[in-house]
Amino acid sequence: MAYYYGLDIGGTKIELAVFNEKLEKLHSERVPTPQTSYEDWLSSVETLVRGADQKFDTQGTVGLGIPGFVNASTGLAEIANIKVAHGKPILTDLSARLGREVRAENDANCFALSEAWDESNQQFSTVLGLIIGTGFGGGLVFDGKVHSGSIGMAGEVGHTQLNYHALKLLGWDKAPIYKCGCGNEACLDTYMSGRGFELLYNDLVSENGEKVDAKTIISRFYAGDEKTVKFVEMHIELMAICIGNLVTILDPDMIVFGGGLSNFDHIYDALPKALPKYLLRNAKVPTFRKAIHGDSGGVRGAAALFLK
Ligand SMILES: [Zn+2]
Repeated sequence: MAYYYGLDIGGTKIELAVFNEKLEKLHSERVPTPQTSYEDWLSSVETLVRGADQKFDTQGTVGLGIPGFVNASTGLAEIANIKVAHGKPILTDLSARLGREVRAENDANCFALSEAWDESNQQFSTVLGLIIGTGFGGGLVFDGKVHSGSIGMAGEVGHTQLNYHALKLLGWDKAPIYKCGCGNEACLDTYMSGRGFELLYNDLVSENGEKVDAKTIISRFYAGDEKTVKFVEMHIELMAICIGNLVTILDPDMIVFGGGLSNFDHIYDALPKALPKYLLRNAKVPTFRKAIHGDSGGVRGAAALFLK
């Protein structure tokens, strides 16, 4: 029996999970991410992996899901929110310690991979995973393999910008233009994410400086609040515009949503209806699905980096 280890490397915790070849989870554990030194960080990963080796009396494959990427041309990790490992050759160093190949992928790519490998989704060869949570992230899977790009940075959909139709919808110079964490302005990250959904609502609908969260917006929508219904319709249109461009480029079989806003079921009904207007005439509207594996997506996708 083969064992696949997936590690979800976060800013505050590292989770390791062990899977079999059917991607059934056999074991998992988590430890806090060391903030003290790179050596300590390497040791914690090593300890988790060795522990799993011992538990299953094996040497499992090691895949990492990271909040960034390992630059394929320099070999250095670009993971700004894990300071001790940022800019370090994590794959070379971990391989040397563990005596086996170690692979890493961006966590949004791991999310897409995890969903693409689910039994119910395996008929879809081109899978686009979109995370609509704190940010707006994306990952692309072709035939069970992640498309990482030239240096490993593919899929950064959140840092593409509002286009003509989006600005028109938002009222041209009345459109709220947000500054993005990446330094640019009008990045989709600040409009398509759950956070963007709240930002826009509070700027366009809320009165007297009231700040409401996505949950409240959604319950007002289901209660039939007129202004909120109008806002949600507008936001669906904005999603259709932005996702329409991705569909035109990629022609995916399936788009799978993860992150907090993916639980807003109305999207799965409204978005496919709004989309055709922004596609080429003969284009196919992809199947839209909600993530099946949710929070396990990171470890599961990281483990799947070694599946064939
Ligand atoms: Zn940006």
